[in-house]
Amino acid sequence: MPPLFNLLRLPPHFRVLDVTQSPAGIRIVLASEVPSASCPRCLISSTSRHSTYTRTAQDLAWSGQSVTFQVVTHKWRCRVAQCAQRVFAERLDPLLRRSARMTTRLIDLVCSVTLATSGRSAARLTAHITPALSPTTLVRHIMTLPEPAIFPAHIIGIDEFSFRRGKPGQGHHFGTIIVDLERHRVLDLLPERDVVSVAAWLRNHPTIQVVSRDRSGTFAQAITTALPEAQQVLDRFHLLQNLRDVLERFFLTKRDVLRQMRHPPMPSSPPPSARLPEHQSQDERVARWVQIHQQIHDLVAKQVDVTTIARRLHVSRPTVYRYLHMIQPPSVKHPSVRRTLDPFIPYILQRWNEGVRNAQLIWRELTNQGYTHSVSNVGRFVKQLRQETALPLKFKHVLPASLYDVTIAHAPLAFSAIQVARLVVRHPERRARREQEYLERLRTADDQIEGVCRVAEQFCQMVRLRQGERLDAWVTAAQSTALRSFVMSLLKEENALRAGLTQATSQGQTEGQVHKLKLIKRQGYGHAGFALLRQRVLHANSCSLALGK
Ligand SMILES: [Zn+2]
Repeated sequence: MPPLFNLLRLPPHFRVLDVTQSPAGIRIVLASEVPSASCPRCLISSTSRHSTYTRTAQDLAWSGQSVTFQVVTHKWRCRVAQCAQRVFAERLDPLLRRSARMTTRLIDLVCSVTLATSGRSAARLTAHITPALSPTTLVRHIMTLPEPAIFPAHIIGIDEFSFRRGKPGQGHHFGTIIVDLERHRVLDLLPERDVVSVAAWLRNHPTIQVVSRDRSGTFAQAITTALPEAQQVLDRFHLLQNLRDVLERFFLTKRDVLRQMRHPPMPSSPPPSARLPEHQSQDERVARWVQIHQQIHDLVAKQVDVTTIARRLHVSRPTVYRYLHMIQPPSVKHPSVRRTLDPFIPYILQRWNEGVRNAQLIWRELTNQGYTHSVSNVGRFVKQLRQETALPLKFKHVLPASLYDVTIAHAPLAFSAIQVARLVVRHPERRARREQEYLERLRTADDQIEGVCRVAEQFCQMVRLRQGERLDAWVTAAQSTALRSFVMSLLKEENALRAGLTQATSQGQTEGQVHKLKLIKRQGYGHAGFALLRQRVLHANSCSLALGK
């Protein structure tokens, strides 16, 4: 059997003096046995022992029992005449940091649980491995983590992110996220998104040579001010996003054409059997939302607390908070279920008539036709059909019967301006067949639309395949279309654009990091605010555990 000393993985100069077990846990008495210690001030080693004392610290739990170390350690005298330090305590690093009440390995574990969850969840989880720690204590440990080592960066991506700060109702605030594109990690988060703070940060990082950015003038100006030599690269993701916004504005001017595309007209009212349950009760639901909204705001005005309001109105507390943030009562939204499923309803009805009763099967067939949403939407619709035709749930297939009128199968798609804009920017291979057909019909319907779609698609291709050499020809072609002002705005930052269209630098991972940040944000960063959010993001990649080392 290995000696206890080895099992505990203690540094070599410790000795185990005693082990006792009680219902309160395991108590291990250790002695530090060093012949000398270095003065923290003059760094000169001393062999003159001053006194002995005991430190107590919690260690990792052992087979479900808490483990407490009682470490017998020493104070030493500094014999150097010029040194102001007369007596100093021996350092027990790395086992136990200065004045810590937990061993370093326990702190590391607790920190990584807190980083991965949130103060409150971590308090619950760590209750199993250490006597209760409050969320505040856990957050304090996170806040004192040293910043991860930063290597000089050369190629960075810079983007904005939003976060809420302060009291409810104060709205969102934008910060800046800076990513090392070579090392795939977040370099820093700044609580602001303005020229001064971004430029100040950049000035402290003079090794940066390439900065990938969006089209906002703020970042461009900050880079130009702080690092005039650095190559600016327009990020391709943002270029496409920008084009999409421009296209949306364009298609808003073409609403007449979009509207005409809906003929032959939809039946004046869809057959009652093809209506979703959500649709029928919607008016009632909205009426209830409006009522709750009114009641919550009235009660808050009377200074009733949230818990009481929740109890009185039979809603959850998060609901109360959500409604408090809404200035206007909620209004009718087109149910997304219906809208996403709409184009596919005829097909579902057709399959239903053919005797198919399996939502999963129908969903799989729909995904082949370009349906990208979850099976549950289809399931809800099928459930409705099932209830209407009163057929037992267990049948997956029944004999064909003409139960539904499928003539709405020929109802054409109706796209909004934003939907058409998205469609144009989407990679042609990722368009569903009916979307592709729609787009083709739309393009033949209007010359201006045809021109815009042609140059927009060329632009997307140029961006995706990094064909910067085609830029001049594209500019010439695009200038004669409705995208002229988009072209002009691009030419204002031609260098960054050309770099974006040729260099391999991709801000794709910055988007990934922004997404990761959103996940961390959702877990909450409480009253410690931005500083905690920053700690959590910076340590998310580099959660270095001393455990097992
Ligand atoms: Zn000294």
